[in-house]
Amino acid sequence: MTVESLICAVCGRPVALDEDHRRVRSTKKRMDDRDRPTDYYLHEQCARTVFEGWWSP
Ligand SMILES: [Zn+2]
Repeated sequence: MTVESLICAVCGRPVALDEDHRRVRSTKKRMDDRDRPTDYYLHEQCARTVFEGWWSP
């Protein structure tokens, strides 16, 4: 059985989707057109490093 995996946006290594991971949606808000969402996948560990210090709105 193959486990689907995607590339981590931070370290570039595969992220197994049956393990702890995070999905981040970045949506470009366009005033004159449709929004453009992009999904990123990160290891839990990589996400913690990247989001450290970020403030929630
Ligand atoms: Zn990673």
